[in-house]
Amino acid sequence: MSKPRSPVVIPRSEHPISRAQLSESALKVLIRLREVGHESQLVGGCVRDLMLGREPKDFDVVTDAQPETVRKLFRNARLIGRRFRLVHVRFGREIVEVATYRAAPEAEQTAAGLELTEAGRIVRDNVYGAMEDDAWRRDFTINALYYNIADFSVTDYVGGVADLKQGIVRVIGDPEVRLREDPVRMLRAVRFAAKLGFKIEARTAGALHKLAPLLRDVPPSRMFDEVIKLFQGGCALTSFEMLRHYELFGHVFPLTEEGMTREQDGFPITLVPRALANTDTRINGGKSVTPAFLLAVLLWEPARRQADRLMERGGSPHEAFRMAASDVLREQARHTSIPRRFSTPMREIWALQPRFARRHGKHAFRLVQHERFRAAYDFLCLRAEAGEEPAELCEWWTRFQEVDEAETRAMVRAVSPPKGRRGRSRSRKRKAASHAQE
Ligand code: ATP
Ligand code: MG
Repeated sequence: MSKPRSPVVIPRSEHPISRAQLSESALKVLIRLREVGHESQLVGGCVRDLMLGREPKDFDVVTDAQPETVRKLFRNARLIGRRFRLVHVRFGREIVEVATYRAAPEAEQTAAGLELTEAGRIVRDNVYGAMEDDAWRRDFTINALYYNIADFSVTDYVGGVADLKQGIVRVIGDPEVRLREDPVRMLRAVRFAAKLGFKIEARTAGALHKLAPLLRDVPPSRMFDEVIKLFQGGCALTSFEMLRHYELFGHVFPLTEEGMTREQDGFPITLVPRALANTDTRINGGKSVTPAFLLAVLLWEPARRQADRLMERGGSPHEAFRMAASDVLREQARHTSIPRRFSTPMREIWALQPRFARRHGKHAFRLVQHERFRAAYDFLCLRAEAGEEPAELCEWWTRFQEVDEAETRAMVRAVSPPKGRRGRSRSRKRKAASHAQE
């Protein structure tokens, strides 16, 4: 694709975006910038989604005004970002992001504002430019359309409109160069293809296969953010399948991938897709799914395998599981960071799994009181669906939560071993073990 000098400008009468579809906040920002004599346009995901007749998640604005100027224009604005300096303008719960046009990397290789690593990865990108430069440094053609508030036209420098029509995710420029600059774009390609039901264009797809290992060098915190977007966007299952298809998955979750390639026929391969399908159903029904649950699913198999190995060396199941969780979380943190607010509940979801089998005496009543019971129970049911636990166990716990107190006691009695078989010393030992788990 060569750089055309003049962009295609689509007048209001020839595209479907109407001003009424913009949020009030986005409109305010666009109009204010224009009032003081600056260019102001919507860009990126919101224009793409509006062109497709979808509701945008949020609105991103670009302007020729510098971030400091933008900040001063709005009372509710603040400067953010290091890699990209941006202004966030807040209206209640909505944030409108305002960026300043940036120059394309090729044009500014030696400029002080652009820093590349040896592998060609951009670490800082604060070279301001004109609108045309800005279009060329965006990731995909479908993400580089501009909606101009001055005359309501859409501007396309890179063939984005044609790709939207054909359903194609295509990197702008040379895929190899652009994906090297920022390997996270590989995950973004999959995310947009999965979300929009688009195909990844052949040259872009070819580069994915080749450059997948570069994901290993991306800072884990950025990987975490992108992975969460991949799995919380309502298309987790398709995203997962595409990640595996393009051999990207193994560079994001290497321990999980290892188990999947070794045990194609066992339950490991079914637990993850099942969980992701459930996640999609929940999210598309307006409910939420915590990253802790998603990560607990994705890393369960490696954690279990590691626990088995530790038990073979003679540890107690409880201790082996605790250590395995730490080992797996430590290893995964080299690829995607896992903030403690998620790793703590993950450990709990895992640690509660063996406790579902022990239902006699006070065990079931205690377990149901646990702060993490609900997530752990959902996890148990998934494992049961995947054939890892008997379906009856999950059904028992479902019923236990639905019936009245008298009935719960009857349920517990029904699964308790006969009195005579429980000697004093054994029940004491059990008590000690259950305390150790709490
Ligand atoms: P979503 O609907 O998920 O928000 P989006 O396209 O708006 O999708 P954002 O991450 O919000 O995605 O980014 C906004 C825009 O910024 C993109 O459409 C794209 O033009 C540009 N952009 C974002 N990330 C990159 C990147 N890594 N490289 C180049 N351009 C990017
Ligand atoms: Mg966006």
